[in-house]
Amino acid sequence: MTAKILDGKVLSAQIRNEVSERVAALKARGITPGLAVILVGNDPASEIYVRNKGKGCEETGMISRTIRMDETTTQEELESQIESLNRDPAIHGILVQLPLPDHLDENAALARILPEKDVDGFHLINAGHLLNGTKGVLPCTPKGALYMIRSTGEDLSGKEAVVIGRSNIVGKPMAMLLLQQNCTVTICHSRTKNLAEHTRRADILVAAVGKPGFVTEEMIKPGAIVIDVGINRVDGKVCGDVDFDHVREKAGWITPVPGGVGKMTIAMLLANTVDAAERTLEK
Ligand code: NAD
Repeated sequence: MTAKILDGKVLSAQIRNEVSERVAALKARGITPGLAVILVGNDPASEIYVRNKGKGCEETGMISRTIRMDETTTQEELESQIESLNRDPAIHGILVQLPLPDHLDENAALARILPEKDVDGFHLINAGHLLNGTKGVLPCTPKGALYMIRSTGEDLSGKEAVVIGRSNIVGKPMAMLLLQQNCTVTICHSRTKNLAEHTRRADILVAAVGKPGFVTEEMIKPGAIVIDVGINRVDGKVCGDVDFDHVREKAGWITPVPGGVGKMTIAMLLANTVDAAERTLEK
């Protein structure tokens, strides 16, 4: 069996088109959705991500504002910048590009963002909503990965889902979203024993590890939906956590890297920003 490709370019284009239409409708009512991205320091990977987010905003008709802060920025300066964006009516979404330089407290900074402007979905209030199953802002990467899984059209209820990785931004929220879809969810991590025994049971396997070629063909249940969240650089080339060429011969569905989950992450960020702008109309 050769897996069908879950194409991030095609699927993210669907979301972007919807976003563009919603932006146009908001503009007709005098509101242009605005996203502010705070970039502290000059990490080269972060520079690329921030540029792509700005481009996504422009292409869908939104305003993007990048606030560059020096590597030596203090916690107080960062938080006061966030506060000023919280008060700015032209800004509907605020994103602090991670990772921050070591001397800064990430959690304290994220806690300063107004939960309704937290378009990354990392604020504790939004994490709490996800855990509770109540309405909040969902983190972009797991939200995008779930969109890809649902696009297979398979009935997810009762399926075995295995997530490798337990970070707050990918693994844990991904597991919660799959649970909400009535999957039976297992979270594996660096201390998991006999990892392949878990992954071989998975109808849905999500890899969010950060190690190139980590998921091999032997770890796959035939016909599984395999979602590769990893973004790694090997010899200057971007690749995921899954040994794509071999795993695709066994899986039912698979996401490529590049052109997979990464595309969905940005599309969901744009969608979350429009959601936030629309919420201001409800007030
Ligand atoms: P992280 O480093 O915070 O978490 C990695 C996880 O992998 C940890 O929970 C750890 O327990 C687990 N792990 C490490 N070694 C393992 C092993 N041998 N067996 C089982 N589990 C193991 O990383 P993260 O922020 O969750 O990101 C994971 C990957 O996803 C990275 O490559 C990152 O670049 C990528 N990422 C991609 C997107 C996207 O838009 N596609 C977004 C965020 C992160």
